[in-house]
Amino acid sequence: MSSQFPEARPRRLRRNASLRSLFQETEFTLNDLVLPIFVEEEIDDFVPIKSMPGVVRIPESKLAGEIERYARAGIKSVMTFGVSHHLDSDGSDTWNERGLVSRMAAICKDAVPEMIVMSDTCFCEYTDHGHCGVLHGHEVDNDLTLFNLGRQAVAAARAGADVIAPSAAMDGQVQAIRKALDEAGFSQTAIMAYSTKFASALYGPFREAGGSALKGDRKSYPDEPDEPSRSVARIPAR
Ligand SMILES: [Zn+2]
Repeated sequence: MSSQFPEARPRRLRRNASLRSLFQETEFTLNDLVLPIFVEEEIDDFVPIKSMPGVVRIPESKLAGEIERYARAGIKSVMTFGVSHHLDSDGSDTWNERGLVSRMAAICKDAVPEMIVMSDTCFCEYTDHGHCGVLHGHEVDNDLTLFNLGRQAVAAARAGADVIAPSAAMDGQVQAIRKALDEAGFSQTAIMAYSTKFASALYGPFREAGGSALKGDRKSYPDEPDEPSRSVARIPAR
């Protein structure tokens, strides 16, 4: 049984900086952070993302230099988001071994081999309708999208990505990607699924960054938006 006050006095271990750092259980350092980067093909200059001041789209031609700069700043991990100029109905550029997903991973690993490269794994930046998978009428075809997620994951792993990070919010995506990676000989490639995703306006700036041209909405696959009305009572004025 854990002891309680007054036997337990956690303040005892926080009385000065040395004691505090010796016994501190939770630390938050650069080891815990991943820098998301937005890489656009076929452009020459950095493009500011208006809704996220200070954040830019990186031209593919300047990606290697940026990765070296981040490494010098102590950053150990990046997540790549591509801004594609090769859109189609399936997002097939993502599994093309000469496509943007593969090129980003290869450029990052060539520039700084010890940089951990996480490859965002989705289709909304590569489809002409902006959905995160293959469309059937107005609905996303979950299972066909799983197959394509596997293809994209294998292409990224082959190009050097350390971690596959699916954000498509498809049912069964981790299992499908694990199977595809293992069958292609990439059993050491890790998967980090985004655990939750909301149909929220708060994603607006991120969509601007990724150049996503969504027609319709994503309400069939992510979670409900974070509606204040569900947790906050607004009492009308008298
Ligand atoms: Zn997506």
